[in-house]
This record gives sequence, C-alpha cells and structure tokens, in this order.
Amino acid sequence: MDLIEDGPHRLDVSEHMPAGPPSRRYVGVDVGGTNIKSVVLEMAPGRAEVLRQDQCPTEGDTPADVLAQVATIASSLAAADPSTSALGFSLPGAVDRRRGVTGVMPNLPGAWPGTRARAAVEDLTGIPTALINDARAFTLAESRLGAGRGLEVVVGVTLGTGVGGGIARAGTLFEGASGFAGELGHQILYPDGELCGCGNRGCVETVVNSRTLTERAGLRTVKEVFAEAAAGNARAVASIAGYVDNLAIALANVHALLCPDAFVVGGGIAEAGAELLVPLLERIRALTTFDQPLNVQVRSAALGPYSGAIGAALIAAEREGHEECLAVRSD
Ligand SMILES: [Zn+2]
Repeated sequence: MDLIEDGPHRLDVSEHMPAGPPSRRYVGVDVGGTNIKSVVLEMAPGRAEVLRQDQCPTEGDTPADVLAQVATIASSLAAADPSTSALGFSLPGAVDRRRGVTGVMPNLPGAWPGTRARAAVEDLTGIPTALINDARAFTLAESRLGAGRGLEVVVGVTLGTGVGGGIARAGTLFEGASGFAGELGHQILYPDGELCGCGNRGCVETVVNSRTLTERAGLRTVKEVFAEAAAGNARAVASIAGYVDNLAIALANVHALLCPDAFVVGGGIAEAGAELLVPLLERIRALTTFDQPLNVQVRSAALGPYSGAIGAALIAAEREGHEECLAVRSD
C-alpha cells in the first residue's frame, strides 16, 4: 500500500474495525511559515479517505490576517461540501488546545501570545473548530493512519526549521497536564547555549535546525548538504554528524522516559531518508546503554506532506466525538 502517492488517496484502516456511525467529512488546515496545506478527509468505519488536498502561500502580517486566511480556505472547502461536520487547524508553535489560545509562533508574523485563535476561526466560519500544534497533528495522523499505525507508543518527530514532536499511545495523543507533552525540541541540551525562540537557552532546536545544518556545511540548502556529503565533502559530512549527534541525545532522553515502539520522523530534513535515519538510530543505540539490544525503531513518516492537515482533520473529528470510527486497535 503506497500512502505517499500524489493526489487524493485512500487510507485503508479496515483491520479490527468496530461498527460505527456512517461517513462524515472534516476539513483539516495545516498552517506553516511558508505554506498553508488543506485537506477534506472522509471518515467512516474502517475507512479514511483524503477527498481533496491543496496548498497556497501563507499571507498577511498579523495573527488576524493568518486566521482570516485559514477561515477563508476552510469556508470554501466546507461550502463545496455541505456535509462537512467540523474543521481542525494546526499552527507551528505553542498552542493551548483546551482553551484554543496560542503562545509564541516563531515562524509566523505578528504577536501571537494570548490570541483566541480557535474562537476567531469558529466565529468567522460558523463551523465547529478544533486547534492543535502542527507536530502533534503530524504525530496523531502518523500514529493512527501512517508509519506508526498499530504500534503502542509512538513519538513523532518533525525536522525542519526547528524540531517538533508529539507522543501517541494506541493512536491517541498524550498531551500531559497542560497540553505541552511532546515538545522534545525544547529539551535543554546546552544551558549556556544560544537563545531559543521559546525564551530559554540551548534548546535542542537551537542546534538541530536547517539553518545550522546548512551554515556549518557552508552551503545554501539542506538538499545540497546531503548531496555534497554523499560526494565526500568533509564539511558537509561533519555538519550532518553534528546534527545527528544532538538529535540523538534528545531522542535518547525521550527513550529513557517513554521507551516508545518507534520514532516516526517527518518534515523537510527527513526527506534525506536513510542518510539521516540510519546514523541517527546508531547514535541513539550507542546512548541507550540500559536497553540493549535496542528495540526502538526509527521510521520515516508515511503520509507525505499533508500529514499535518490530516491530523488537524482527525482532531476535528475527535472534538465532535467521532474519533471512535477510526480506532486502530482491537484490544
Ligand atoms: Zn526552546
């Protein structure tokens, strides 16, 4: 089953399906610093299908502009299909999902802390709305429908301008007491290190990010870094090794706390595939002396670039109390 194909695709989740309600449609919108991706997801007992997927550039200079754009996209998708039950959207930063209020958004324009983002989109669209952090949306989608499907404990890791994360157990997010569980990019590695977008110093993502990877290699793009490393460029090789070393410390720490079945790794930098994931697993293994032979797997994400939007649609379904139609485990 190829889940990475272009165009609308069907996600077969037919194993162990309980009888459930008839099909429902949800809009999922994934807001990134550069692009906004959207899907219409149809869910029924044993079946989830992406009916439509789209992307456009993120526009505007303020939270109100970006939220208005989310509402416009969602409204137009919902108007095309009156059977839409709810919408979910994800944002690339701190989100208090229960209150629908945002914290810092380092990669979006304007001042986001304290913004009642969920209510704003709900008021503009008139559609029941859910809000989630983008890496948590990725983790939910991959654990329920993608590379982590059927596994007990899955930690999602997104690698791009920074490091996002999420924790899922049996296809359900574990969010902790205040909803921030999974912020693995903000573990502190170097207490006297560089200032992070979150306000602390030396977080994982101050050293594990695309800018550091390219700068240390003396190259312009992540793709160039991996291509040059493959061609034997010593500076590119060293830059990747440094990136992997820091990320492996972060994930070994997570492993010590959670002992997951798998890390599911996505985001732009993960497109490097085995060139990144094989040495990463080796470094995690070397740092995890108490669990030998190491059981944890490092898997590539399976749902492609729309996984965040799919996760946002799943959260919309959950808000409406319909998540049971995609339960993935029989026990
Ligand atoms: Zn931080």
